Amino acid sequence: MSEFGSFSPLPRREVGAGVRGLSHPLLYPLTPAPTSLRGRGELCPATLRLTDAALTSWDAVVIGAGPSGTLAAYELARRGIQVLLVDRAAFPRWKVCGCCLNSKALATLHAVGLGGITEHLGAVPLRDLRLASAGKEARLPLAGGVVLSREAFDAALVRAAIAAGAAFLPQTRATLGVVLSEGRVVVLHQDAALVTVLAKVVLVADGLGGSLLARAGMASAHAVAGARIGAGVVVGAASPFFQHGTIYMACGEGGYVGLVRREDGRLNLAAALDAASVRAEGGPGRVAARLLAEAGWPLPANIAAAAWKGTPALTRQAPHVAAERVLVLGDAAGYVEPFTGEGLAWALATGVAVAPFAARAADHWHLALARAWQCRYTQIVGRRALCRALAALLRRPALVRALIRLLARTPAVARPILCSLGQGTRCPPAFPLGSHA
Ligand SMILES: Cc1cc2nc3c(=O)[nH]c(=O)nc-3n(C[C@H](O)[C@H](O)[C@H](O)COP(=O)(O)OP(=O)(O)OC[C@H]3O[C@@H](n4cnc5c(N)ncnc54)[C@H](O)[C@@H]3O)c2cc1C
Repeated sequence: MSEFGSFSPLPRREVGAGVRGLSHPLLYPLTPAPTSLRGRGELCPATLRLTDAALTSWDAVVIGAGPSGTLAAYELARRGIQVLLVDRAAFPRWKVCGCCLNSKALATLHAVGLGGITEHLGAVPLRDLRLASAGKEARLPLAGGVVLSREAFDAALVRAAIAAGAAFLPQTRATLGVVLSEGRVVVLHQDAALVTVLAKVVLVADGLGGSLLARAGMASAHAVAGARIGAGVVVGAASPFFQHGTIYMACGEGGYVGLVRREDGRLNLAAALDAASVRAEGGPGRVAARLLAEAGWPLPANIAAAAWKGTPALTRQAPHVAAERVLVLGDAAGYVEPFTGEGLAWALATGVAVAPFAARAADHWHLALARAWQCRYTQIVGRRALCRALAALLRRPALVRALIRLLARTPAVARPILCSLGQGTRCPPAFPLGSHA
């Protein structure tokens, strides 16, 4: 039986082919260019105008150009599907993230022909994890992962999707509209301008804080009770104490904060914190500064007062990851606290896996596709039991300190856990992708 149950995937069409109805074809790259990974740091411009998007009948509209949406758009474009990728942000854009790609994420990129992307962008190979709490520290060897800024990574994926044939509209906010017999309406806003487009299928990849489903009256991902919130900041010229290739993770009362040095030398901080601690201590910067000080590490200058950006509650799961002519993926479908650094691997894997379902839906929508995507999604992310267990452990600082003492004496104890999280030296194979013809 195929991954669709009773359905079978559509055959791929020629890469970059099949762009129907565009009134400005010159704005649209029809052939994938080997130069797609160039242009690091440069703006990713729109490939068409808003009005042109409205004149086109789209097989698929992907809302959200994070890693999940962009990889889905890339895969659909490679199949010759007419796909529009939309994001409210301009790219490159920064987002709160620990910036660590584990070996599962890298294997997914490799499987879809984007294996060179991280090296090209100068990603920093990860060597070890320093885990500290209240002055106790353990050092664990890591292999197979890299550090890469989200500005560089996400923009490179957008360029790859465009080169494969996807149309791209940045600085465009989307909302879901009604279902008609021939597709679902998507409303696109650019400043005061507003158009509607029709898509045979809509991929919702609007991330953790996305409100597309809720605004359309559909059941969206609800945070679990007591879920921690995320926060992050990037600072320059930090202490030379923080080395390239090391994750510095400080845990304690109220949460944990991770630091890595990025490929551009700047320091990326990302934290999962109790909302109550953030309120009581006067902001995420102050909680992070306390956790780092308790770990015995130097404080990057002005860290408490820096302009931290927050996220909504982290751990959440959508009751359904499909609705009529809608498939949900990435963080929009569900997420678990970031300690294990698997979010990007899940986002990329669901971005790849959704493509054959979306291709089929563009040909003919059927409710069975929604059920089949729900099953496939669950297979990919599993029950995230290990991630949830670690998140629960991290709420018990005394246990964390005991574990750190154990790991400091016997680092090998951590190896099976690191391996199953895609962070170890001999890791299991990546997610069974199963979606590439
Ligand atoms: C503190 C923290 C640390 C983390 N650290 C790591 C780590 O080290 N490693 C790891 O693998 N993962 C990590 N993650 C998780 C990782 O960042 C996410 O899992 C990943 O970004 C999910 O990708 P996505 O494509 O689903 O969503 P996103 O990357 O969030 O992209 C969603 C996109 O949708 C756009 N959007 C939203 N609404 C609309 C709209 N209405 N119209 C148009 N566009 C819209 C947004 O602008 C955004 O660009 C961390 C997360 C947090 C919070």
